[in-house]
This record gives sequence, C-alpha cells and structure tokens, in this order.
Amino acid sequence: MIRCDVCERRCPLGPDTSGYCRMYHAPHGLVEERFPDRWCAYATARMETIPFYHAWPGARCLVVGTAGCNFDCRYCANAEVVKVDPAGQQDVMLDILPEDLVAVARKRGCRAIVFSVNEPTVSLPTLERVSVAARRAGLVMGCLTNGYATPEGTARLGAIFDCVNVSLKGLSPEFCRDYLGVPDVGPILRNIQALARTTHVEVTTPVIEGINSHELSEMVDFLAGVGPDVPWHAFRLLPEYKMRQEDYPSVAAVGAQVEAAARGKLRYVYFHNFIGSRWVNTLCPGCGEAVIERHSLGCGGDRLQAVHLDGGACPRCGASVALRGDPDPATAKEACS
Ligand code: SF4
Repeated sequence: MIRCDVCERRCPLGPDTSGYCRMYHAPHGLVEERFPDRWCAYATARMETIPFYHAWPGARCLVVGTAGCNFDCRYCANAEVVKVDPAGQQDVMLDILPEDLVAVARKRGCRAIVFSVNEPTVSLPTLERVSVAARRAGLVMGCLTNGYATPEGTARLGAIFDCVNVSLKGLSPEFCRDYLGVPDVGPILRNIQALARTTHVEVTTPVIEGINSHELSEMVDFLAGVGPDVPWHAFRLLPEYKMRQEDYPSVAAVGAQVEAAARGKLRYVYFHNFIGSRWVNTLCPGCGEAVIERHSLGCGGDRLQAVHLDGGACPRCGASVALRGDPDPATAKEACS
C-alpha cells in the first residue's frame, strides 16, 4: 500500500484500493489513473462561462470533464457526474486520446481546452498528456479547481494550465467540514499563492447567504495579499444536491456584502450567476471606465459584449488592465455589432 500524493487527502492506494475520488489506484506500487483518456462530456463555450474574465476574453473553448471528485460539497451542481462511482459510469464515458481531443477543439474553432465539469486533480496524468498535445497545436489550457492538491499536485496543475480558476468556498473549519467534507482551508490558501506565482489565477467564491457570506471580507483580505490584480468572482450559489430545498440567495443582499467586502482592496471584483448582473464589466483600475463590457445570462452563461482597450490599457486614462492573452478579435467584433 502507498499514499497518493496528488491531493491533501493522501489516500492509501493499492491494487484493489482506489482512494476517496476512486480515480487512482496503485497496482504496481505507483499512483496510476484507473480510467485514463476517458471523458464524461465535451462542449463548446466561451472563457467567460467558466468563469475566466481576464484570460483570453471572448475566446471559444472546449469544456471537458472526466468523473469523480475529492470533495463532498453539499451544494454540488454536477452531482450526477461526480458523486457516482466512476467505475459504474464507464459504459457512458467517451474514449478520446489527447490528439483527438485537440483535433475536436481545433475543428470547433477553440483557442483553449478548459477542464471544468469535475475536479482536474483526479485526472492529472491524462491532463498532462492533453496539455502536451494542446501546446503543440497552439492551444492554451485552463481549469476550475477546488485547490486541494498537495504541493506536488499543485506544481503539476501550474505546469499544465495557462489559467486556473480556484474555488475559494469558505474559510472556517466548520464550513469546510460541514459543506465541503474536508478538515480545513489551509492547503487551498497555500495553493492559491503558489499558483499565482506560476500561472494566471482567478478566484471564485460561491456565496451562500448567511453561511459563508460573513467570511467575504476575510477572503478579500487574503486575496489582496496574493495580489490586488487577482480577479475575484463572487458567484450567486444556486443550491443543488443536498441543499436543493434551500432558498436562492438575495441578489441585493449578497451584492451589498460583496461590495462592502471588496471596496478599495481588489481591482477586479465581479458578482454574477444571475440574469442581468451589473457587476460583470471590467472597470479600469485607474479611472473606473468600463473597459470590457459583458452581459450576464445567468447560470454561468456570461458573454463578452464589447472591448474598449488601447493596447491593453484604458483609452481614457492609460492605466494598464491585467489580462492574460488578448481579447478574441472575432468575438469582440461580433459582440459589438
Ligand atoms: S487524488 Fe483521489 S486518491 Fe489521491 S489523495 Fe486525493 S482523493 Fe485520494
């Protein structure tokens, strides 16, 4: 029996022991994937949907996922995929080699491949192979992660992905235990700092009114310490899975809490996941001008509307706007027309 070094659960693995996520085992004394190159789905979307607002704005991306997760979130939106034993899903999984996945992305006009259905940490070797093929084809890689990898796993995530959105869901040990199924947030905070040193990082906080909303200010203080340019997405959580009976959070109440928590501390603050949000534009950090306009369609379906940048800077005051990758010219033009 060996210990898995991919995430902080550090599960014992053996030939017949597959760990909490059920995606790794150790038939030969090393950590191995049980289901390499197997995908639950792929679909075409825009970077804003993930959400990435400051990485390749407007670019088309191929969204992919596998199976399994190392968390047990009470409000999981993809429970049908991540809570089911991956072994029992294999008859509906897609067998796609890295080069073929890249070919699909290119055929669909994608600039990026983004892993976001479940947790990328549970499929690292497959994603490493995809990233090699993607780079060869000139594509970039992105992911949404819970940030609970080990330092070794985090280094691998940083090497695979050109942009990472880390979900900072809560801070207190009680919240982590009761709502996520892990003992504490320490590894996630450590990994946000580590990833921000090696790749583009955005952070998303699903806000549950009255449950983690009182921690927003402390989260913002932490992120400001990582860097005031880290984009922060407060995400209006629509409870699913074990919280399906809960009320939807109030947009006005959560919006006020987000504004109060972030004022003057972070340069790029967003609040979305509902139709018509007024918090989805990128404002110039120098003069407050809306330099990238977006439209919020709800349920993560945000869309680029217009880009008003002059060589990456505000056309009014000249302040530089933190972006990884240029806005997609076709999308920006199409969005403006
Ligand atoms: S990646 Fe999976 S098997 Fe490895 S420690 Fe985490 S939950 Fe356990």
